Amino acid sequence: MSVIDEVLAANEAYARTHELRRLTPRPERKLAVLTCMDTRLQIVTLGLKGADAHIIRNAGGIVTDDSLRSLLISHYLLGTEEFMVINHTDCGLMLTTDDDLRKRIQNQAGTAAIAPAFFYAFRDVQENVRQQLQKLRTHPWIPKKVTVRGFVYDVASGRLSEVQPN
Ligand SMILES: [Zn+2]
Repeated sequence: MSVIDEVLAANEAYARTHELRRLTPRPERKLAVLTCMDTRLQIVTLGLKGADAHIIRNAGGIVTDDSLRSLLISHYLLGTEEFMVINHTDCGLMLTTDDDLRKRIQNQAGTAAIAPAFFYAFRDVQENVRQQLQKLRTHPWIPKKVTVRGFVYDVASGRLSEVQPN
């Protein structure tokens, strides 16, 4: 049985009670979190429950065209008022470069292909968070009344620390 088959079986069991039926699509605590897909960072590490916030995840926790799209929809359609950007220590994107990733994937796949324009590899996690904050704070469609704050999550200590502007 593949993991996907296991998930299907678990869903079948869940659907018998479907406890989340009464939730609305609007996050109860009006928060949107943009963070990395890393397994060590989960809503429980933020003291959140599933209905509290939108959790938007990608490799790195990067403001890309698509995560920006989600944040805009989160605010304008679904009422979130605070954005939290979280990157973390020991991120896989700190161990490589865009060039290296492109070569490595091409070698393993054995073929060239249309590739993502950027993998958004980075070296300095604090600086990377600052860049994401800058992209959001300067965006003309993100109103000043939306709080935008950035953090680094330390996977060793389990603590968040806020990134201050330079
Ligand atoms: Zn990561």
